Amino acid sequence: MTEGADFPTEGTSAERKMRFLYALRSRGVTDTRVLLAMEKIDRGHFVRGLFAERAYEDMPLPIPCGQTISQPSVVGLMTQALSVQPRDKVLEVGTGSGYQAAILSQLARRVYTVDRHRRLVREASETFAALDLNNITAITTDGSFGLPDQAPFDRIIVTAAAEDPPGPLLAQLKVGGIMVVPVGQSDAVQGLIKVTRLETGFDYEELRPVRFVPLVEGIAAD
Ligand code: SAH
Repeated sequence: MTEGADFPTEGTSAERKMRFLYALRSRGVTDTRVLLAMEKIDRGHFVRGLFAERAYEDMPLPIPCGQTISQPSVVGLMTQALSVQPRDKVLEVGTGSGYQAAILSQLARRVYTVDRHRRLVREASETFAALDLNNITAITTDGSFGLPDQAPFDRIIVTAAAEDPPGPLLAQLKVGGIMVVPVGQSDAVQGLIKVTRLETGFDYEELRPVRFVPLVEGIAAD
């Protein structure tokens, strides 16, 4: 066996897992509940095909429909910033592979996740069923408008970049609720923003630079 970060996919699965968790901690994911959830949810279930063997590396990877599964440390940092409580109802915009939603399912009472690609919603739903993650509902819709039927939410996480935090999502956040969203031009580096809904108005905190695929309007053909 070869040691070291150059060959992070080698070794036994226990060693791989230890390296994965070490990489998360060294990049600032320190919340015990988030680390436990990420230990339990195996990223290998969410990356299919050619890139499957790279699932334990701390990098984004391609998924169908020209989208990406985010880098694990970014998933960890966003989940940590969201500060999910056990009774929370959470909305994720941007199901993608379903990995982020699966982690949220360990921390929240109920998770709704939406994507504009039917295929991604179908495949993620299959993965949730195979893993017995019964508190997630995945829906095909344009998430820029949120999910009015299920609103309001305690927490909202957007995993695609918006030019501004979408108004309907702000409106669907409970007072005291938190939304984490990458904001900025789609082809540039974006800022990860934490929005807290106050009794009157919103508080905005910029957390760190990130790079996400853009939030696109409308439901996709596939
Ligand atoms: N959270 C995902 C990664 C998301 S990639 C994971 O854990 O794997 C961003 C996703 O946002 C893509 O799947 C893309 O289809 C979706 N998306 C982009 N614009 C959207 C919109 N308006 N409504 C819903 N989903 C959208």
